[in-house]
Amino acid sequence: MRGKVYLIGAGPGDPDLLTVKAARLLRSADVVLHDALVPEEILALAYPNALVVDVGKRAGSKRLMQQDINRMMVHFASAVETVVRLKGGDPLIFGRAAEEMEALRMAGIEFEIVPGITAAVASAAQGKISLTDRDKSEAVIFLTAQRKQGKKAPDLAQYAGKRVTLAIYMPNGRYQEIADEAIAAGLSRWTPCLIVLNATRPNQETYWSNLDGLRSASQIESPSLLIIGEVAARREEFAPVLQEAQAIWNLEANMEIKETLHDNQ
Ligand code: SAH
Repeated sequence: MRGKVYLIGAGPGDPDLLTVKAARLLRSADVVLHDALVPEEILALAYPNALVVDVGKRAGSKRLMQQDINRMMVHFASAVETVVRLKGGDPLIFGRAAEEMEALRMAGIEFEIVPGITAAVASAAQGKISLTDRDKSEAVIFLTAQRKQGKKAPDLAQYAGKRVTLAIYMPNGRYQEIADEAIAAGLSRWTPCLIVLNATRPNQETYWSNLDGLRSASQIESPSLLIIGEVAARREEFAPVLQEAQAIWNLEANMEIKETLHDNQ
């Protein structure tokens, strides 16, 4: 008998943001192969006798190779009925899903994708900003600050002066580099930015700034998501006044991360 593999999005962390389908499949899984980002509360929903394996690879200290994970899925799917491959957020956004689907296709194993709430969407919700506010943005671009070895950095110049929102995954503390690249590419240094650390988790933190202030954000840990664009303007009433003053008098940015609004929700 050949089993089926479900590539499931676990969402950003809050178990309430799991889909009903994901929760149901977790309860019936024989084997769960999960990423490091998936919290305990979600894993606790798995069938008590399920084999739960952490195949997570943290940036830097790589443990299992992607190929090992692919082989493991195929291996278990040939022995049990239901294999759940559980990923943070949505499985199809920066989740190596293409490689895993290819491995399953090659092995002739049936699979299904169960979407999850991706970090950009969850972070926007936590910051209460609209990614596509029609007065400020015509498009949302999902980017990653991580590059495959030998690959070039994304060309940010194409977004300079455009009404777009950039959602940057895996900034991994490289805020100064990202800000410098964005400014060099022609984006205004006053472009608003929002960083959400641990979105929807009990230890969530939000940081509001602009590209200039982003340079001093390097101490913010992972997992965090960076939103750049007019939609990410601070929501306090005085934000427009502050921006106006900056524009009129060309004020130097004094909105360093430590001085910006810091919600500990
Ligand atoms: N498939 C995932 C993304 C995996 S890449 C998704 O759709 O969300 C891992 C990156 O996602 C992290 O480095 C971080 O940038 C982002 N991320 C995932 N969960 C997050 C969370 N709860 N809060 C903030 N960022 C998160």
